[in-house]
Amino acid sequence: MIELERIEDIYNHDHFTLHEVVLNEIGSYVFVKNRHGEYLYANQLTLELFNTDLETLKGKTDHDFFDPELLDDILTSDRTVYETANTVIREEHTKAIPDGKLRIYRAIKKPIICINTKKVIGLIGVSTDITDLVNMREKLAELANTDELTKLCNRRKLWQFFSSAYHQASELNTPLSCIVIDIDHFKKINDAHGHDFGDKVIVELADIIRRNLRSTDCCGRIGGEEFLIVLNNTSAQGAHDIAERLRTNFQNSPLNHVNAPFTISCGVTELTPEDYDFFALYRRADQALYDAKHNGRNKSAIR
Ligand code: GH3
Ligand code: MG
Ligand code: MG
Repeated sequence: MIELERIEDIYNHDHFTLHEVVLNEIGSYVFVKNRHGEYLYANQLTLELFNTDLETLKGKTDHDFFDPELLDDILTSDRTVYETANTVIREEHTKAIPDGKLRIYRAIKKPIICINTKKVIGLIGVSTDITDLVNMREKLAELANTDELTKLCNRRKLWQFFSSAYHQASELNTPLSCIVIDIDHFKKINDAHGHDFGDKVIVELADIIRRNLRSTDCCGRIGGEEFLIVLNNTSAQGAHDIAERLRTNFQNSPLNHVNAPFTISCGVTELTPEDYDFFALYRRADQALYDAKHNGRNKSAIR
């Protein structure tokens, strides 16, 4: 055969029907299960994943092929098909036992409805491996929220976090504080040691902050050498203690010069019932920072 002229040419060999050829070449996992979850059919790709053949597959269920700890997604999709008699499209995180890898599938599951009873008697599934795509999506989302230099949150993510922390604290009447930090005389550091060294100092401060944060806090760079930390369930006094710890740690950092120590100033404040949005809190912390600068720098001030 030189050219493909008739559709029969692609399946005359190996005793496969056209449907079988197409289903095996489709690049997705195709299968049919009955209402008890027992497999009636699976295409070649699925059989390879399960490390089985069509004869052995029949009557087996997902319990035979998937890690029991990661079966929920599959069982939930199937149950929804049976309960609603609708096509279900979901992402499923699963681990096939023979393969042993955590994979994410976009599963489309369509009900098979009995013509007489109108009941769902099974389902046809087409699952496509989208693990790489999901990983890429997560990486992009992370990039969109991360400050490139310090790997802390960027301003976008910070405002998002601050806004939801503000709403939660206002509703539940729990304390919420924030700290604004600015490196003192940073222009001089840049001028004396160069911009690249200035960047190193910024990263050093970011690392110190990161080491001192709890999982419920959020910190990001809001501009040049200025940082904001949002502290859930923390009073102004608690936040002031943290600010002081950061200030001392930064001053004692190995990167610091003995003769002209690099220092930071911090502005601290706590949510009050009068704060009509999170920005009111931020502005007050910024005023407190101004107080610290005004009073000689290398200080933490509360407002
Ligand atoms: P102050 O004590 O009043 O804060 O004095 P300052 O010199 O730190 O003043 P200011 O905060 O206004 O200066 C910030 C400087 O930081 C200005 C800018 O050249 C520099 N800068 C901003 N972004 C970056 C950055 O990403 N890397 C470096 N190396 N420098 C930056
Ligand atoms: Mg500064
Ligand atoms: Mg500044």
